[in-house]
Amino acid sequence: MPCEIVSPWIKEMDDRPIGEPLATEERTDIVIIGGGIAGTSTAYYLLQESDLHVTLVERTKVGYGASGRNGGQGIASVERSFKDLLGSLPGAEIASLLNEISSGHQRVDEICNSIGYHDGLFKTTIWTGLSSVTEVQKQLEEMKLRLLYGAPVHPLILDEDLVPKVEIDPVLAEMVSTATPSRLKEVLCTREKYIAAYSAPASLANSGRLSRAIARHLLDRYPGRFVLHEESPVSSISFGEEVKARSNGTAVSADAAVLCTNGYPLPELESSTVPKISDSLRRYVASMVAHTSEDRTAPGAFTYFHEEGDPEEEPYFYLTRRPFLLNGNDLVTVGGPQQTISEELDHGAEYPPGVYARIDGFLARSYTCALRDEDMMCWNGPMGYTKDGIRLVGKDPHVPGLWYNTACNGIGFLPSIVGGRKVAAEIAGARSR
Ligand SMILES: Cc1cc2nc3c(=O)[nH]c(=O)nc-3n(C[C@H](O)[C@H](O)[C@H](O)COP(=O)(O)OP(=O)(O)OC[C@H]3O[C@@H](n4cnc5c(N)ncnc54)[C@H](O)[C@@H]3O)c2cc1C
Repeated sequence: MPCEIVSPWIKEMDDRPIGEPLATEERTDIVIIGGGIAGTSTAYYLLQESDLHVTLVERTKVGYGASGRNGGQGIASVERSFKDLLGSLPGAEIASLLNEISSGHQRVDEICNSIGYHDGLFKTTIWTGLSSVTEVQKQLEEMKLRLLYGAPVHPLILDEDLVPKVEIDPVLAEMVSTATPSRLKEVLCTREKYIAAYSAPASLANSGRLSRAIARHLLDRYPGRFVLHEESPVSSISFGEEVKARSNGTAVSADAAVLCTNGYPLPELESSTVPKISDSLRRYVASMVAHTSEDRTAPGAFTYFHEEGDPEEEPYFYLTRRPFLLNGNDLVTVGGPQQTISEELDHGAEYPPGVYARIDGFLARSYTCALRDEDMMCWNGPMGYTKDGIRLVGKDPHVPGLWYNTACNGIGFLPSIVGGRKVAAEIAGARSR
């Protein structure tokens, strides 16, 4: 299977350095560790909302972490169901979290407009296909809880033959409609059979390229208040009288640090109390495949659930289609499989062996448009998960001077931006008191 091991998002980026490595001792107000979409949007909002000086320190290059290796879907979602989250959070808080994440669509528009990023944001719809009655029942339950607590609800379309087999609560009657199996295939752009589908807004973008555009904009707009260091891995951060982030044999001192490292690798955190993140990280690697095509169809996004009866035993695959910025033809990316990892992530390895062929097999048998086999690209990327699956955003409860916008999980593009805005507002508010 000829496959170039590269992320198409990285192909779309200008890789010239935009920040010098840290070489001498520096002092700033806030030091941000990690230059993906979380770190750059946190810097964006901090500089916009306050007169603070901000230094961003990136291990390699801005945008080359998960932000440059993902599925490119800006969706307002979390990876746990409402019912599941009710075990650890009150319903009103879950609804507020979901509403907050939904504002990410507007936030990404605002950022792109304000920095003049006009060629890389595509507004579309994400269609999710469900293949079993159990999944449909779960979705109806999700809709009911969302409705009850005031979170966004996505209307469901059911295969007309399924209606007698599922129990629909009368409160949802107006949000459930029916369609023929072929209509479901059409909206889901698939040859496979799904028995239900729902849609939600999607903002598609190369979040690595966007991170680089944000960083460049901040360097131009705030030359006296923003400093960026690339190729500067932070080995440790100490928390005492002041915060010190050490890298390249020197350090940046600051009043506070915001950890935006996507959860891994974690710099050593030196403090007299135990930071919240220390016991709450799980490291995953996720794999993806992409093809270009001769077509130039409308952008679209899809998730396909197969919790039952899928021979490949993948819970879901996610597919994104939008123009490849290098030639304007469709770029179709698809991912799904992920696994835990304890060693250093190797971008040249397959996790597990054969994973790219498996993803490509799904694409070949299900996607309806022709793809160019000769343009196949394969890659993997890091996902940092908190134990409870909820992103870590805000102040550490035990370590003064430590803030987080991190452990973004598998759906992290819009939540990183929303988290950046929230952390910046809290830091700016704390400073002005
Ligand atoms: C294969 C894959 C598919 C995905 N698909 C989607 C999707 O379709 N939609 C979605 O919303 N999310 C998706 N995600 C998740 C999404 O990519 C991430 O949640 C998001 O990019 C996280 O942004 P970030 O800035 O936190 O992380 P990153 O982009 O990883 O940025 C963290 C940065 O921190 C740097 N860093 C780490 N340690 C240090 C250190 N010690 N010193 C200095 N710098 C450090 C890293 O080099 C990196 O650049 C996917 C992720 C993967 C891997």
